[in-house]
Amino acid sequence: MTYDYDEQNIFAKILRGEIPNTTVKESEHALAFKDIAPQAPHHVVVIPKGPYVTADHFATEASDDEIADFWRTFGSICRELGVTPDQGAGYRLIANAGSDSGQEVPHFHMHILAGRPLGPMLNS
Ligand code: AMP
Repeated sequence: MTYDYDEQNIFAKILRGEIPNTTVKESEHALAFKDIAPQAPHHVVVIPKGPYVTADHFATEASDDEIADFWRTFGSICRELGVTPDQGAGYRLIANAGSDSGQEVPHFHMHILAGRPLGPMLNS
């Protein structure tokens, strides 16, 4: 079993420049932009540029360079936002995968949420 990547998903269109985004950071293998429907004062979505559907897909099939670049990009964004617990009040990282999680966009992405108390980890 493997994943079929939908080239028409909205993040693929963002990566191809077909729809606009508010870029926070771009690296060789990753792009980070503001979520269009922010759930917190800081709500950034970080995606790899490669065609990965979920976090597990990325973790098993991406190259070491892609994985390192993705995490380094994430780390620098958190520092630049000033939300790391050593500088600020912290953040939450969310990566939905599949139907039970409610994943809407089938391109692996991590949500960085910060800027207010974020409540319990799950609502139910
Ligand atoms: P998920 O439910 O984890 O798949 O999250 C998908 C996220 O993508 C949601 O938080 C949406 O608000 C966000 N989103 C959808 N379309 C766009 C867009 N064009 N630009 C930025 N964020 C988007």
